[in-house]
Amino acid sequence: MSQISHESSGHQVVNRRTVLGAAMRSCAIAPLTTLSMQLAPQSGSLTKEQRDRMAPSQVIEELKKGNERFRAGKMAPRDYLAEKRSSAAGQYPAVVILGCLDSRVPAEIVFDTGIGDSFVGRVAGNIVNDDMLGSMEFACGVSGAKVVLVLGHTACGAVKGAIDDVVLGNLTGLLARIKPAIPATKFDGEKSSKNAPYVDAVARTNVLLGLEEIRRRSPILADLEKKGTIKIVGAMYTLSTGLVEFVAS
Ligand SMILES: [Zn+2]
Repeated sequence: MSQISHESSGHQVVNRRTVLGAAMRSCAIAPLTTLSMQLAPQSGSLTKEQRDRMAPSQVIEELKKGNERFRAGKMAPRDYLAEKRSSAAGQYPAVVILGCLDSRVPAEIVFDTGIGDSFVGRVAGNIVNDDMLGSMEFACGVSGAKVVLVLGHTACGAVKGAIDDVVLGNLTGLLARIKPAIPATKFDGEKSSKNAPYVDAVARTNVLLGLEEIRRRSPILADLEKKGTIKIVGAMYTLSTGLVEFVAS
């Protein structure tokens, strides 16, 4: 942690790419419609100071634009080796994403972000636990990320497992963290794991309860949100369309 603390203390000023880097890189060759930010005049690098000046709402807008690029198949041109080089000495991600383990929901890809752009924690059912909270507190309280995003998705197997009361080793305890979303979901129709709209409704509730849990169990993050330093938001990803819809802000 000493190295992390050093990096985050602002002693290192290193040009690097952040979540905006994708937009900046696309700036060079893509239509201006892909841009909305005040960008640095030079080639694709964004300093810590520039990241710190971003409002949380701007970060969310960039994530939405990245998802649009993904859905359109017009991902920003990316040089992973260059990103690796520019971020090696320090990282200034703009967002921390809590996503599901599901192999079909890789946050960096569906938001078209690069190396160093986003912190991503993944666990089945995108459940909130102490370690994830600690990671988020590091991301926002120490490193300076502006947005906490809980990303659920359609057809989530973990949600289905919670609905079906699956019992299996350590999975049982994980599914227990999802179960409060079941009675909290208002739904007219068949309440079974075979009914896709119901599964998705529970997944959405699970995201909303996750946001509440973050605020309740992390006074650090709740205070940062109250001060306007960060936003804590939820979203749902649709497997069939690739669309990310923000469900709370
Ligand atoms: Zn899932």
